[in-house]
Amino acid sequence: MSWDDRQRAILAAMGIRLWTDPHREAEASLPPGTAPEAEGDGPARSAASPRETAPSARSSAAVPATRAPQAAELGARPVGVEAMDWPALRAAVAGCTACGLCRSRRNTVFGVGHERAHWMIVGEAPGEHEDRQGEPFVGMAGQLLDNMLRAVGLSRTPGPDHDPARQVFIANVLKCRPPVNRNPLPEEVAQCAPYLRRQVELVQPKLILAMGRFAVQALLETDAAIGRLRGQRHQYQGVPVVVTYHPAYLLRNPADKARAWDDLCLAREVAGQ
Ligand code: URA
Repeated sequence: MSWDDRQRAILAAMGIRLWTDPHREAEASLPPGTAPEAEGDGPARSAASPRETAPSARSSAAVPATRAPQAAELGARPVGVEAMDWPALRAAVAGCTACGLCRSRRNTVFGVGHERAHWMIVGEAPGEHEDRQGEPFVGMAGQLLDNMLRAVGLSRTPGPDHDPARQVFIANVLKCRPPVNRNPLPEEVAQCAPYLRRQVELVQPKLILAMGRFAVQALLETDAAIGRLRGQRHQYQGVPVVVTYHPAYLLRNPADKARAWDDLCLAREVAGQ
């Protein structure tokens, strides 16, 4: 693969330096002698996470908050999720009261992108900015994700030709923000899982890129570390899955961006692009 000036600029924005002959095939791998960080399983979710502190550069308009249901209003997940079309699924997520996260959310975060995109990106859960805006990955981690996607010719925003091969659909394991960005609880993941499963069925992607520990755990049902799962082709509901680091983790551990770049290249290959 060779890179033009635009792609070089995007790689630079990702923090990846091309250290081979820039006019030859680029290998965005770790500079020699750079030791990897110990784990790299994904973002440590805390109030101090980058997602909490970095406002989006793209959108500043806060979506009006939806009313938080009271404890007594917690209900069951709507029936028939597995057969829903897009409008029904969107409505089901928007009105979901199946777990306690509905009490503290401002907005549900359904997902964004081309409904038949060839790539599907699966993250963990909305953070503060996503909860305010109702869109996944809009904080600093989202900006890094957008740069990473642009480097491989992909976007969440519809292009003029609406070509599904050049677009992604981005969704999270959880559709509601866990308070103060705490880790998702197993029961929350279990309640939300049918929504993600149905999204995958509707999109029918050629590839799922699972970003971070909780996405990987939810899709692959394993506790294995990201480092052990990277570099292979996995499967979720018959769809190939490639595992990579969460962008928030990469913001804190920039040395691993080169590995994330390798993962993107593998994902391209798996998606047949
Ligand atoms: N991190 C995620 O996993 N998802 C988001 O939507 C934002 C940050």
